[in-house]
Amino acid sequence: MAKLSSDIDSLNSLKACLGRFPPPAPPVRPLEMGNIGTIGSPCPNPGNPGNPGNPGNPGNPGNPGSLGHPELCRRPCVYLVKGGCCRLGVSCNFCHHAHLALDSKLDQKQRRTLQKMTTCQMLAVFLPHFQNRAHQMGLLRQATPFICKLEEEMRSYGTQEKNIAEDRHIRRFHAALSRMSLATLAKHMLEPLSEEANQAFEALRENV
Ligand SMILES: [Zn+2]
Ligand SMILES: [Zn+2]
Repeated sequence: MAKLSSDIDSLNSLKACLGRFPPPAPPVRPLEMGNIGTIGSPCPNPGNPGNPGNPGNPGNPGNPGSLGHPELCRRPCVYLVKGGCCRLGVSCNFCHHAHLALDSKLDQKQRRTLQKMTTCQMLAVFLPHFQNRAHQMGLLRQATPFICKLEEEMRSYGTQEKNIAEDRHIRRFHAALSRMSLATLAKHMLEPLSEEANQAFEALRENV
């Protein structure tokens, strides 16, 4: 009889212990709209941008868009910015970390200036800013292979004119670049560049 009651006691304590764990996650459902795949994971903590898609590891959302945060990640996920949760979870291509500082953007006039630059001039203007920023962020060692790849692309233009006449407008252009994140600088530089250069940037994102 004593044995039976001790067995019941241990069963009860096991039940109490199991009761402390959350119930199993609901099954994965297809998205109701669009044809963009299935849900990576349910939204475990709506409104908490730090833990939207990977409940097993709150510090790391584990989705491709968050790689390299805060300097090298993608734009913030709009679902999380709006205070909700992202149903794409670990497959989302936007950043799932909180972004406190707004990234610098080019205004309309500056975008026109950029359009008028040759690829060679654009690289000559952007690369020193990328290098400085990588240095400031303590990422210069990891960023060096990517910087070398872009310098190689710049050399492929041979003796093409690199310099742009310095005026007040160009100085403001430089000031905007000096406030940009590495990801935004890279986005502008990579647009006209080779697939290889784009792959070198993806390798950098995975290495930080
Ligand atoms: Zn981010
Ligand atoms: Zn998302």
